[in-house]
Amino acid sequence: MSATMPVPRNLIAGEWVEPAPPTIDVLDPATGEVVTRIPDTPADGVDAAVAAARRAFVYWGEVSEFERAKLLHRLADLVRGDLDELSRLITVEMGKPIGESRGETAKLADAFDYYAEEAVRVYGETIPNEAAGVTSIIRYEPVGVVGAITPWNYPLELIGWKVAAALAAGCTIVVKPSEYVPSSAVRLFALLEPAGIPPGVANLVLGADVAGRALAEHPGIDKLAFTGSTDTGAAITRSLAKALPTSMELGGSCPLIVTASADVDAAVAGCLRRGFRNAGQICIAINRVYVHSSVHREFVDKLTEAVSKLSVAPGLDDPDVGPVTNRDIVERCSEHVAAAVRDGGMVTTGGAPLDRPGTWFAPTVVDHVPADSVLATVETFGPVVGVTPYETTEEVVAFANGTDAGLAAYLYALDLNEVFTIGHALEFGNVAVNNPDAGIMNAPYGGRKGSGHGYEHGREGLRGYLVAKHLRIKYSR
Ligand code: NAD
Repeated sequence: MSATMPVPRNLIAGEWVEPAPPTIDVLDPATGEVVTRIPDTPADGVDAAVAAARRAFVYWGEVSEFERAKLLHRLADLVRGDLDELSRLITVEMGKPIGESRGETAKLADAFDYYAEEAVRVYGETIPNEAAGVTSIIRYEPVGVVGAITPWNYPLELIGWKVAAALAAGCTIVVKPSEYVPSSAVRLFALLEPAGIPPGVANLVLGADVAGRALAEHPGIDKLAFTGSTDTGAAITRSLAKALPTSMELGGSCPLIVTASADVDAAVAGCLRRGFRNAGQICIAINRVYVHSSVHREFVDKLTEAVSKLSVAPGLDDPDVGPVTNRDIVERCSEHVAAAVRDGGMVTTGGAPLDRPGTWFAPTVVDHVPADSVLATVETFGPVVGVTPYETTEEVVAFANGTDAGLAAYLYALDLNEVFTIGHALEFGNVAVNNPDAGIMNAPYGGRKGSGHGYEHGREGLRGYLVAKHLRIKYSR
């Protein structure tokens, strides 16, 4: 085990505690070696964290918005000051190229700044009342104690969006990060005290599904913010202890449509970025591509050439593509490619795991994937893209909307009629046209259908941590 990893402990009420013996191995995906070992926090450890958050809520909710903003800005500065080490920890445990980890850490700091600024812009309303001598005021108040559960593909950003919005709103929070990537979270939480954030306002519990279940089902939380797979989100929804506000940021299987009018080179560049960045392990990764038959050959040839040139190496060497984070991803990529080939598809580059220590899959393009093949219907979450030719606009909209996924879709088209007709018909929470970046900090980011509900980013992201109160005041007798 590496001596340079932080000690994996829970942070509860400002104290570092060891809730149980460490039993879960955390691996470096580039080598397969164990880099640290963490506990799966049992129910009583989660109880202690929720109780700490409840105690802290009594005063944090009363701290002025301007003071909360000041502390969040300070936390942003501390994150920037620790960018090298936070980013290194992301890459060591998750595998992504170090340049991408640095980008993620920088965006985490930006999220703290953004919500610091939004904290002082939570305005209520005074609204007309049917009775004379009565005033109705709508106030937005913090929802209370938040339970937050996050996945491994953006180890810091996905924690940060929740912590930033919750703290800006006046909520307190208990975070359970993914068991695959605990160390950057531990290091981030060590910055809370120097930022001046009071003990208990943000608490950290480490672990896997035991800790996750204990937090999600805890009767002491007032909101659950979950990001993860569609299956886990559905299991949690079935097991909630009470009717609870939830945000569910779930899985994708995102389509890219390339029409006859598209700038094919731009579409290839967009597909390369959004299909293979972070080794395709992004909820908004392009997984299935529908290309009009008139440009299909050109698109596939150019994409195949570009993908075959991607450098693949350990993340600390800053290649184009690093290892995938765990064995499940290698297996899912293998299964989806094999099924597509059985169904009539043809691998044009890659197609198999790489034979080296750790967990690796070659960047892969499969052409002529039938629209009902598993590669075109289920999220792969790895560096694999399937291409399907199409003929009519109606057909391609049916393909894109034909799965349970509703997170993000991409469209390359220069014909305005296609841009609006297809752009409006897509049943997705985020649609990027002639660019591959579906999410920005100040726009609501959320899924539809099986991809979940609720928002992160933007004012809507903050609104999810607030509840409205109607104060009806009679002021004349
Ligand atoms: P996962 O669902 O396996 O795990 C997510 C988290 O839930 C982890 O912390 C895990 O320990 C915890 N968990 C597991 N079982 C649990 C249970 N029964 N009760 C409570 N918690 C439990 O997901 P993952 O493999 O870590 O992440 C990949 C998935 O996340 C992909 O499907 C991806 O699309 C999705 N994702 C979605 C978004 C989004 O914004 N929509 C963003 C990133 C990732």
